[in-house]
Amino acid sequence: MYNPEHETKPYARSLPVRAPYDVVVCGGGPSGIPAALAARRAGLSVLLVEAQGQLGGVTTSAGVSHLLGGRTSDNRHQLVGGIFQEITEELIRRGGAIDPRTIDASGKYQPHGWFRGNLAVGVPVEPHLYAALLDEKMLQAGVDVLFFTQFVDAVVEDGYVSHVVLFNKSGLFAVPTKAVVDATGDADVAARSGCEVTKGREADGLMTPATLIFHVDHVDQDALASEIYAKDSPRFRELIQELREQGEWTFPYDIFISVQLTHKGTLMINTTRITDVDGTDGLSISQGMMRGRKEVHRLMALMRRRFPGLRDAQIKMVAPVLGIRETRRIVGDFVLTVQDLVHGRDFPDTIGYSGYGWDLPDPQRPSHQPMHGVERKRPYTPIPYRMMVPKPVENVICPGRAISVERDVLGPLREQAPCYAMGHAAGLAAVQAAREHHAFKDVDTDALREALLAEGAIVDFAVPA
Ligand SMILES: Cc1cc2nc3c(=O)[nH]c(=O)nc-3n(C[C@H](O)[C@H](O)[C@H](O)COP(=O)(O)OP(=O)(O)OC[C@H]3O[C@@H](n4cnc5c(N)ncnc54)[C@H](O)[C@@H]3O)c2cc1C
Repeated sequence: MYNPEHETKPYARSLPVRAPYDVVVCGGGPSGIPAALAARRAGLSVLLVEAQGQLGGVTTSAGVSHLLGGRTSDNRHQLVGGIFQEITEELIRRGGAIDPRTIDASGKYQPHGWFRGNLAVGVPVEPHLYAALLDEKMLQAGVDVLFFTQFVDAVVEDGYVSHVVLFNKSGLFAVPTKAVVDATGDADVAARSGCEVTKGREADGLMTPATLIFHVDHVDQDALASEIYAKDSPRFRELIQELREQGEWTFPYDIFISVQLTHKGTLMINTTRITDVDGTDGLSISQGMMRGRKEVHRLMALMRRRFPGLRDAQIKMVAPVLGIRETRRIVGDFVLTVQDLVHGRDFPDTIGYSGYGWDLPDPQRPSHQPMHGVERKRPYTPIPYRMMVPKPVENVICPGRAISVERDVLGPLREQAPCYAMGHAAGLAAVQAAREHHAFKDVDTDALREALLAEGAIVDFAVPA
């Protein structure tokens, strides 16, 4: 086992230098995918580096196959267009995703597990078809993709990253680049190149719990739904209380969260809550995986015994990657605040929107949402470009869940659709930065908004009168 203490060992060697790219995108999740496509389609050479063996990030590798935040919570208006809409609509046409517009507006229970009006409407996807479509998109666009490859370090010269250091089965190597999109979700590039970052809750650094997602099939969903209708209890809080009193439910949370995926009878179970995991610490993630797997099987056995409709359910997949909701955030010159959202502030550099609400469970009380009940002027959130720009390194941009925000602002912005909006903007910003060799902080945001608009993104939203 490695020694977590701070003994150091000097280590120096020359690395092979591979062919240069205009842009290197580190991380192939909801923010890295559109960044790579947008930059490549604009004519730049792009390398996309992904630690796992498929694209999709949390959506595929961590099993969270449900893209939230792309529509207003009343399901009446699209809020994220552009590459997000292109990919989800293509997947819907291929039978690999559910069109949220088909959700029955008259019913209280949505087929996808949420109650109307509670949360923004999502797009459930079939993860294998989604990953395959993403491969196709990269091949068509001409993005070079390296799977099973980690961003390890950055060489910084005169305030710019000149090379990224990568590692895969071929060993360590360096890639020269003009701009880096840090879409790792953990701000790995920003942190290792010397940008200012923070981690977790402002007061104590604690982070919201992780979840090991699993998918089950052979669910009698009509029985499950009837019980939900009858008891008006989508999260089974009363049943869980009863089980707790009987000593059967010993988990540190009191809610059951499931979402129907693309086929009736198949659910994504987003219920386990693994506390005290630090997603930037290799040992902590490893221990979290083991705790998560144990909990999945205990929960499954209990669900089969006591939950309506789940008696014959079978585990279809336990995610091979722990779902980490929160780690580092960059600290830029601009920080989006809770008050900005409460007062519904607008921003001249808005590059997209999220339709989602507050959702960042308390680190130690996983069923408690500290922001629950805090009113916002608007039920949707504009995304200012500046929030993706770290400092002081000039040619790194950080879309996704590691943005420069007060922690609770992550709730509405960390979902997959707004991450797509950020990634799309980051990719087009990289076109300006790489072509003109200037800093991300100096990107012309009016021109960026125009370029996004031309690609179908939504950069000015107001609820139609
Ligand atoms: C348990 C859980 C449930 C959630 N539920 C929902 C939901 O229902 N709907 C929703 O829309 N959102 C949900 N979210 C939030 C959402 O999935 C994430 O916030 C979102 O995926 C973040 O996108 P991203 O691109 O920033 O990062 P990620 O999706 O984490 O993608 C980052 C990618 O970078 C790769 N990577 C990381 N480090 C490196 C490195 N050093 N080198 C190379 N590659 C690297 C990773 O393998 C990964 O593929 C949930 C999140 C979790 C964890």
